[in-house]
Amino acid sequence: VGEPSDQWQEYRGAPTGTDIECEGWRQEAALRMLNNNLDPEVAEKPEELVVYGGTGRAARSWDAYDAILAELRELDDDETLLVQSGKPVGRFQTHEKAPRVLIANSNLVGKWDDWDHFHELEAKGLIMYGQMTAGSWAYIGTQGIIQGTYETLAELSEQHYPDDRGLEGKIVVTGGLGGMGGAQPLAVTMNHGVCIAAEVDEARIDRRIETGYCQEKTDDLDEAIEKAKEAAESGEAYSVGVHVNAADMLEGMLERGFVPDVVTDQTSAHDELEGYYPSGYTVAEADELRDEDPERYVEESLDTMERHVRGILDMQEEGAVAFEYGNNIRGQVQDHRDVADAFDYPGFVPAYIRPLFCRGKGPFRWAALSGDPEDIRRTDEAVKELFPEKDHLHRWIDLAQERVEFQGLPSRVCWLGYQAGDDEDSLTERARFALRINDLVAEGEISAPVVVTRDHLDAGSVASPNRETEAMKDGSDAVADWPILNALLNCAAGADIVSVHDGGGVGIGNALHANNHVVLDGSDLAEEKARRVFTTDPGMGVVRHADAGYDEAIAEADESNVAVPMRDR
Ligand code: NAD
Repeated sequence: VGEPSDQWQEYRGAPTGTDIECEGWRQEAALRMLNNNLDPEVAEKPEELVVYGGTGRAARSWDAYDAILAELRELDDDETLLVQSGKPVGRFQTHEKAPRVLIANSNLVGKWDDWDHFHELEAKGLIMYGQMTAGSWAYIGTQGIIQGTYETLAELSEQHYPDDRGLEGKIVVTGGLGGMGGAQPLAVTMNHGVCIAAEVDEARIDRRIETGYCQEKTDDLDEAIEKAKEAAESGEAYSVGVHVNAADMLEGMLERGFVPDVVTDQTSAHDELEGYYPSGYTVAEADELRDEDPERYVEESLDTMERHVRGILDMQEEGAVAFEYGNNIRGQVQDHRDVADAFDYPGFVPAYIRPLFCRGKGPFRWAALSGDPEDIRRTDEAVKELFPEKDHLHRWIDLAQERVEFQGLPSRVCWLGYQAGDDEDSLTERARFALRINDLVAEGEISAPVVVTRDHLDAGSVASPNRETEAMKDGSDAVADWPILNALLNCAAGADIVSVHDGGGVGIGNALHANNHVVLDGSDLAEEKARRVFTTDPGMGVVRHADAGYDEAIAEADESNVAVPMRDR
C-alpha cells in the first residue's frame, strides 16, 4: 500500500468544525468519514490502511487515498465519483439528487470468487478487501458494533435465562479483541455478566482496557477462571482478556473441567491467512511465518480452527449455549477440514437477530461531522423524545452515554426499524428520526450536518449463507439478488454514498452486501432524500423476509402498508 501519505499524517482523523474543504457538505461528509475510518483511535492498523476485520481497508493504496481526497475536493454538487476497490476510477456529471459517491469493493465473478483469486489480483494491485464498513467509510470504531453485541446477548439471555436478570451470574467465553470483537467484554458486562476473552495479541487487550471495553488482563488461565467464577457467584459484572490462543484456551478450560454458560468467538477466522492466528506461535513469530511460508501458515491456521470449533462443540455438549458470532469459523472447518458437525451450533442471526430483520430493524448509526460531542448528546435526547414508549431504547442510550467512549467523530448507534403504521403519511422509525435530526441541524440546535449510515449487516442488504441469511425459511440463503437490489434502490432513493461489497465478515466468496450514507445538512434536499432512503432501505428488509415466508415480516408489511407483490403466491 506504500508509505502513509503526508495528508493522512496531517489529518490523523476526520477534519471537524463548520468550515469545509469541498464544494458541498455531501462531498465533505465523504472526506470526513474516510478520514474518520483511518483515525488512529478508530482503525486497527491505519498506517497499512487497515480499518478492522482482518485486512478490511479504506483505500487500496496511499496513492489511491490521496487521489480520492483530491477528487472529493473537486467534486461538484451534480457529479458522482466512482470508487472501485478503494481507488477512484471515474467522475461523471449526474444530478443533484443522485449519490455523490458510488463504491464497489472486492467483487469477483462467481467462478473466480475465492481468496486465491482475490490474493492474486490483490498482489497485482487490482482489488482491495473492503470488509463491510471499512471500504464504505462507515466504520466508527468498536462503538459501532457494541449495541449489536449487546442486543444479541440480551436476546440470548431472554431466550435461555428468562428471569429478567440478563447475564447476571453467567460466564461467557469468547475469543478475539479486535475492532469488532473488542465490544464483547463490554457488551457482556452491560448485560451484568462475566466475560473471559482469549486474545493472542497483547496490544489489542491493552487497547480494549484503555478504552474501557475490558477490565483486566492476565496470562494465567487458572487466575482468569477463578476470578470469573468469584464474580459470577457474587453476581458482579466482570471482564478479563486472557493473552492466549483461543483454541488453546478452550482446550485448557475443558481439561480443567470448566464449562462456561455461553461460548462463542470473534477472532478473524474468516481469513485463514491474514486474520486468524495458528496455535504455537507468538504474534511476531506467526507474522514471520506468514511472510516466509504462507501455505504452511494457512494449514496450521486451519488446524487450529478445527481444534477451536471442536472445543466449542465439546462445551456445547457439556451444556454451554454455543453460537457462531459471524466470523465463518464453522464454514472454514467444514470446507477445509473434515468436520461434518461444525454447523451443529447455530449462527447468531437465525438464533437471535432474524425476528428484528423481519421488522426492518437493524443497526442505524450516525456521526456528528462537527466533531462536537454535544451534537450527539442532542441526538440522544431527540431519539428518546421521539420514541418515549421504547424503554429498551432509553436504557441503551443511557448506558451508551455512561459507558461507551467516543472514538474519532462522536457517533451513536441504535437499532431502528420500519414500523411505520398504516396511515398514508406515516413514516418509518428510521425516517422519523432522520427528519428530526435534519430539523435540529436546520434550527441550529446541532452545530453542523450529521451523517446517517449503517452496517452492511442489516435487514435487507446482505446475502451471506453462513451468517445473515443462514437457514432462511425458503432456502434462499445464497440468492445474492437482494443486496444488489438494495444498492440499486439506495441509488434510486438518492442516498449520498452507496456501496456494494463481497466477502465482509465471512470472507471472499461468502457474502454480498450493501450500505448507504445520507447527509443531514438541514436542507429540503436532505429531507427529501432521508424520507425516501429511510423508507426504502428498511423496507427491503421487510420485503426480503416476507418473500421468504416469515410471519413477522408479513405482519409488518400488513401493519405498515408495504407492498409485497405475489405475497400469497
Ligand atoms: P480484527 O481483525 O480487528 O480482530 C481479530 C482479533 O482476533 C485480533 O485481535 C487477533 O489478534 C485475534 N485473533 C486471531 N486469531 C486468534 C486466535 N486463534 N486466538 C485468539 N485471538 C486471535 O477483527 P474484528 O473486526 O474484531 O472482527 C472479528 C471477526 O468477527 C471477523 O471475522 C469479522 O468478520 C467478524 N465480525 C462479526 C460481526 C458481527 O456482527 N458478529 C461484525 C463484524 C465482524
